[in-house]
This record gives sequence, C-alpha cells and structure tokens, in this order.
Amino acid sequence: MCNLETEGTKFGCGHYQITRQLRKIDCGNRYCRHSIKHPQICPGCACQIFLGPDKSETITSIDHGHCNQCVPCLALRIALFSINLTPSVLGHARHLY
Ligand SMILES: [Zn+2]
Ligand SMILES: [Zn+2]
Ligand SMILES: [Zn+2]
Repeated sequence: MCNLETEGTKFGCGHYQITRQLRKIDCGNRYCRHSIKHPQICPGCACQIFLGPDKSETITSIDHGHCNQCVPCLALRIALFSINLTPSVLGHARHLY
C-alpha cells in the first residue's frame, strides 16, 4: 500500500482535500497497483487498488465552508428530507379528513 505526501485545503466541515501530490512513497509490493513493482500486464488483477493514509498532509490554505464532497451530500440530505416529509404530511391529511 503506497502512501502520498500531499498539500491541501482544510475545510470547515473537517475534511482535508488534496490540491497537490508532492511525492509518492512506493511500497514496492507487486500486489499493489500503485507500485512500480506491479506488472503492467496483470491477468485477472485483484491487487490492492487503494492508497494508504497520507504520509504527510500539509495544510496550505483554510476554507471555512464545506468541501466538494459535503456540498452534494448536503443537497442529497435536503432532497431526502423533503421526500420523507411528503408521504407523512399526506398520511396525516388523510387521517384528519
Ligand atoms: Zn503500494
Ligand atoms: Zn495486479
Ligand atoms: Zn467535507
């Protein structure tokens, strides 16, 4: 599992978003797809596709808003909330009248 040294932005939601990859620390494992040791042609490749946790994170800027991951998530939550709300409101109305 390879690791990265990165630079990024720290958001108000607590997330860290990478803006620049400084360096990759190669694990040298042939079963890791990010490693230079991994064969170019790997039949039926089921090797490790995930990178390890960042070796070092350098915060270069701070943003007090939400990150890109959180914005669609918030929009989805609002959408789900209004979907959940509608049937119960209708059910309630039916019960009353
Ligand atoms: Zn690796
Ligand atoms: Zn492979
Ligand atoms: Zn976030």
